[in-house]
Amino acid sequence: MKHLYLLAPILALMAIVGVYWLIKTNSRPIPRYDSPETEEDWSAEDYYKHLNVKPFGGREVHRLLIKRTKQKPGVYLESLEPAMDTAGLEVVNAFHQVMGDDYVPVITSGNDWPYHAKKSKHYANKAIDFRIKYIPFENRKEIVEKVQKQLEPRFRIIWERGEAEHLHVELAD
Ligand SMILES: [Zn+2]
Repeated sequence: MKHLYLLAPILALMAIVGVYWLIKTNSRPIPRYDSPETEEDWSAEDYYKHLNVKPFGGREVHRLLIKRTKQKPGVYLESLEPAMDTAGLEVVNAFHQVMGDDYVPVITSGNDWPYHAKKSKHYANKAIDFRIKYIPFENRKEIVEKVQKQLEPRFRIIWERGEAEHLHVELAD
C-alpha cells in the first residue's frame, strides 16, 4: 500500500487519454454527399408536369374572362366560342386602359333567350354584350375605338345606342 500515492496520477493520465480518444473518434471526416445529376433537357413541358399544372388552355381563358368581369344575373356564357373568350379579354383590356386597372366590366348578355333577334349570333355563342352606358361619353368613345382597332375585322364591334345602350362584340363569319 506504500505506492498508493501513484494511483491519482495514473487515473488522471487515463482520463486524459480517454478524452483524447473521444475527440479523435469525433473528428472523422464528414461523409461526402454527391447530389444526383441535374438533367440538362429540362423542358417547359417537364416543368408543367413537375408542377402538376396543365398548360394554359381554352377552359382557362374562359375562366379568366369570367374572373375579370361581372355578369348580369342570368347571363349564359358557358358554351361561348373560345375565340369569344379571347375577344372578351381584349375588351377587358380596353376598359382597363381607359378606366384604370381596377375597373370591372359587366357582361350584360351572352346566349340569353329571348332578348335578341332570332338569327342573332348570341344564340350561336358567338356574341357578348358589355355595359357601357354608365361610363362618361368621352371614355365610352375611347373604349369602343380601342376595341374596334384591336378586334376588327375578325370581330364585328357594334356600339348599340338607345335605351339599352351597350357594346356588342360578335365573331365575324
Ligand atoms: Zn349583342
